[in-house]
Amino acid sequence: MVTVYLALGSNLGERQVYMQRAVQEMAALGCTERIAPLYESAPYGERAQPAFLNSALGLATSLTPQALLNGLKTIEQKLGRKARRRWGPREIDLDIIFFGQEMVQEAGLTIPHYDYRRRRFVLQPLADIAPDFIAPDTRLPLWRLLADCPDTTPLKPLQNNWMTDDAQL
Ligand code: ATP
Ligand code: CA
Ligand code: CA
Repeated sequence: MVTVYLALGSNLGERQVYMQRAVQEMAALGCTERIAPLYESAPYGERAQPAFLNSALGLATSLTPQALLNGLKTIEQKLGRKARRRWGPREIDLDIIFFGQEMVQEAGLTIPHYDYRRRRFVLQPLADIAPDFIAPDTRLPLWRLLADCPDTTPLKPLQNNWMTDDAQL
């Protein structure tokens, strides 16, 4: 078993419900160990689209990186994510940020995620659940990478217990 860290995002429809259902579906891929608080962020990259909900998970899994990616894509599709352009609006986006200390560079799969260090909406929830996790690429802990993150896009904390509280958003 290895602990992997995943980033979750949604900016279409019943955003919190998509996030909750995605976490429930993760049971097919491993054992959820940590769930970060829920944040709302202005869109990154393509600005003219609805605000995102973002969070992160720690998941213990015995899958390979590629099998985990396939499992995440299956969940995205099951939840109704349509094929749209990259960085555009989506019902749910599930990215692998870290796979333990593994570095993966394959066609269609890069771990650590290629852009995580520049995204506050990824680093903040990850640092909430695993501040002392050492990123395998930089050898720095997440609290340090968050402190050094250049992204100034506003990130609003919304809820801590968003899996158990009723959907409000
Ligand atoms: P970004 O990757 O910049 O966050 P995105 O999440 O909008 O953009 P998608 O359209 O969801 O991009 O995914 C494009 C492809 O990225 C996926 O089909 C997948 O094969 C690939 N990919 C590469 N590395 C990863 C990773 N670590 N986690 C998830 N997908 C990845
Ligand atoms: Ca993404
Ligand atoms: Ca993605």
